[in-house]
Amino acid sequence: MAMLSRLTRRLSGLLGNAGNAAPTPTALPPRKSADTESAQTYDAIEGSACPRDVVLSLDQCPVCGAAEFTKVCRYNRFVLFDRVPDADVSLYNYSLCHSCGVVFAARRPAGARYAWLLEHFEETIGRVALGQERSGKITISSHDLTDEGRKDLRRMAAHGVFVSGHLGLARRDYLPSLMNDRLAASVHAEILGSLLPLKTPRVLEIRSRLGSLSAILARLYDARCHVMTLFQNQQFLVQELYGMPVSSRIDFDAFQVPFEGTFDLIVSNHMLTHAVRPREFLAAVRERLAPGGHLYLYGEPVETEFLERGKSMFNTLNAFHLQTFDQASAIRALEANGFRVVFCTVRDDLFMALAQVADPADGEWTRMSDTERSRRRKEYRQASDTAILRVPESLRAPFAHEWDEVARRAVAAGTAVLTKDGRVTVKRVEVSGG
Ligand SMILES: [Zn+2]
Repeated sequence: MAMLSRLTRRLSGLLGNAGNAAPTPTALPPRKSADTESAQTYDAIEGSACPRDVVLSLDQCPVCGAAEFTKVCRYNRFVLFDRVPDADVSLYNYSLCHSCGVVFAARRPAGARYAWLLEHFEETIGRVALGQERSGKITISSHDLTDEGRKDLRRMAAHGVFVSGHLGLARRDYLPSLMNDRLAASVHAEILGSLLPLKTPRVLEIRSRLGSLSAILARLYDARCHVMTLFQNQQFLVQELYGMPVSSRIDFDAFQVPFEGTFDLIVSNHMLTHAVRPREFLAAVRERLAPGGHLYLYGEPVETEFLERGKSMFNTLNAFHLQTFDQASAIRALEANGFRVVFCTVRDDLFMALAQVADPADGEWTRMSDTERSRRRKEYRQASDTAILRVPESLRAPFAHEWDEVARRAVAAGTAVLTKDGRVTVKRVEVSGG
């Protein structure tokens, strides 16, 4: 019984149900307050064994190859954590490429280091405190699915995707997330079905949650789908429900397609943001598209979240977010890598685009203008300042050397105010519209 509820909890978290995966405060003592000012003062967690040697230091944009860029933010979300795997893990030096306009982590983990972070996915994105006992771990990336787990998933999945409320089934007996995921994916099916002549297309779905988009395309257009999932339980469920070829464990560093042949449509969820080598990722995708084939990208967060809606930049940029952009930069990123954008839009701060393999003769693309660059540099400066001012007091050591200047700048810019007792507080952002 306990095992079952643990499994259900794990799944709910993985599939995105709210309420079951609240972060638990760490039982470990907080790191020592540092006297010095750099990130090097962070204590490593003993025995965390995050491989230290695989940090890439980029001297060119990983998206378009340009050599000129400006640092706009030093840290990722780890700077807000009480415990971190090691001293370097929060230092990313996010930089704005002067050509394509993508903001990329100029320092980034690769190879075994990235794999370690992925294996500690829940801890890395901050759902579970580092060092916490992991039996309640939501993702099972580092745990193979056991026979018992498989049996339970099979039993729950046997009720199918659309489980009617009038049947009165207990929540532990089926998987509500299956239908939720189908409904979430229907948005993308609507876009694809409206814009493409889908006639029994051969489809590859990269980083699928539960195979839903493939299931819809198969139902409506007799699509022949191949699915890549992150984790073993997702793989098992997609196989169990839809009987499609499914792989698990995506390599974000040396990305490879584990199926043969070419595809008419490749669907990719939240990959451009995470890819350690985005050019290579896009080349690997392009190589597998049939002539005239399309790439559909979705789930790629845009920078407006922290530039316009007042969210903390540190909090938004978790350690897997190696690239961030606005719509114009995302379009240039695709153009710089041999794609022609057919349609794109931003909804709920997420970029989605349909792009076609471009003619090699059509390889020209327009660089970001100087005006655009200085506008975004300024916006990033302000967002970085307010993110710094919102760092909890116990974690401010890395910012001690620049604190006064940051505060002064933010007050002058009107994004923060000086209170009567001499503290600086960030103004709330009035969010208008969606
Ligand atoms: Zn670039």
